[in-house]
Amino acid sequence: MTTLADGQLVLIVEDNEKNLKLARDLLRYHGFRTIDAPDAETGLRMASDFKPNIVLMDIELPGMDGVTALERLRADPAIAGIVVVAFTASVMPVDRDRFSRAGFAGIIVKPIDVAIFPRQVLAYCNDLAGDG
Ligand code: MN
Repeated sequence: MTTLADGQLVLIVEDNEKNLKLARDLLRYHGFRTIDAPDAETGLRMASDFKPNIVLMDIELPGMDGVTALERLRADPAIAGIVVVAFTASVMPVDRDRFSRAGFAGIIVKPIDVAIFPRQVLAYCNDLAGDG
């Protein structure tokens, strides 16, 4: 089989171990490299240290939430340009508006659709995705 991705580095910020494991396993299987953080503070530090191609950012996290984390990331010139996608089960229109205004490139909804998830992530890496 041909590998989907070409080693793009994905930072997964997710506090739910089950969600994290599924996303990580799928992405690695399809040729991505992954790193992960269980909270926003750690995620921001890893974004600075490793400059991932994309960040999948859970919204409900212990301590700092994902929207605040995105604001912090955008305020740091060294990492401000990284594509950040909201990784969330919140799909109400009011949430979508909030995430869009906050500057997320889009939303990947949990629970993830295993059949399309790796392609969704790759599309954001390649800046081909629409707004969700
Ligand atoms: Mn969470």
